[in-house]
Amino acid sequence: MSNLSALSQPNKSNEQTKLSDLTWPRLDIQIPLSFDKWRDLFKKAFPALDKYRESRTASVVARHLESLGYHVQRKIGGHGVVGILTNREGKTVSLRSELDALPMEEDTGLTYASKVRQVDADGYTKPVMHACGHDMHIASLLGAADLLHKVKNAWFGTLIYPLQPCKERLLGAQAMIDDALFDKIPLPDFVLGQHAVPTRAGSIGTQPGQVLGFLDSLAVRIDPILMARCIVSRLQMIVAREIDFKEPCAVTCSYLHGGTDASIIPEFADFTLDIPKRIIDGECRAANSPKSPRIVTSASCPPIDNDEEATTRFTRALRSFYGDDAPKKIIEMNLDITADDFVLLGHPPGQKPIPYVYWNYGVTPRDEYDQAEKEGTLRDLPFDHNPRFVLEIEPSLRAGIEGLAIVSVEFFGL
Ligand SMILES: [Zn+2]
Repeated sequence: MSNLSALSQPNKSNEQTKLSDLTWPRLDIQIPLSFDKWRDLFKKAFPALDKYRESRTASVVARHLESLGYHVQRKIGGHGVVGILTNREGKTVSLRSELDALPMEEDTGLTYASKVRQVDADGYTKPVMHACGHDMHIASLLGAADLLHKVKNAWFGTLIYPLQPCKERLLGAQAMIDDALFDKIPLPDFVLGQHAVPTRAGSIGTQPGQVLGFLDSLAVRIDPILMARCIVSRLQMIVAREIDFKEPCAVTCSYLHGGTDASIIPEFADFTLDIPKRIIDGECRAANSPKSPRIVTSASCPPIDNDEEATTRFTRALRSFYGDDAPKKIIEMNLDITADDFVLLGHPPGQKPIPYVYWNYGVTPRDEYDQAEKEGTLRDLPFDHNPRFVLEIEPSLRAGIEGLAIVSVEFFGL
């Protein structure tokens, strides 16, 4: 059994407590400092590559959710997992996490650093590391699932935990939706998600309105490789020239391939770009390309634009929960140019959009963060997708669990 325990003891003689009575000062959930089970899970979170190769991670997560008393559905949109807990009639709240890791050699020097290697979808053996904090997301989600199950008397409604595959390619949320996710779960009233970031471990960043950028990920085939190199090398100019300065945008080329041998001039070159399609067309026309580029959109993701009212309510609940610690604990979330397909879970096909809140929690070791802040070198700290990205477990895991638990109970109380 988990060492997590919730000390909240709502009045059992009055189980029909009115929703409006469930406010944070009354719901006193405390999480003891020891939560070894989730820390251990974090340390060996079975990193696995995306492109739907997360079977082991998915089965570990599914078994944990089942052992906690959740109804679990597997293999939705690949290895997607959904855990559901129905606890009397009430609102339905969805909390998202991700399963996949990255093809990187971990260089953190930690005793529990990943040594996993896995054959990727193209047949190459790659080192695998949870360099985006998805191990922390999973541990936080299961910790919150455990906690909320233990305080079932304090809330009523339905909890849904979608754990999506293939987040790094921004394909997993859509894959789950295409696999009839919204027919398999009750329609949520609120969709919620969080992400670990390199701010001070234990902090929680919230912000109403837009917090993340958009992305169009394109697989491109053009003629020939010289033009591909030319286009890729002009990416930064393209950002400056083509993209509205108010529009958060990052352009990345994560794959460029052309030819088979040094002595053979290739007929075409393939590359993937996260960039608006019209820019590729324009560059090929300007270079007098004999053939039009073949462009396939592999992922498309709108920006994350947090619901104002729900985010304000969440932030107020956090302030109430943390009391005197709130000013140093709760920080403003900065606008980030990356994208997250979490946003798609707030747009069920054929239904009106569901209000959503997406927030960050800090994971960078506090001493390192404080030192860098003093020296003005915060930008040099290892960040997500860096092989030296280290997460300070305890305050981060606590913030991850508390954020999910607080936001859930707050929205059940609406
Ligand atoms: Zn990532």
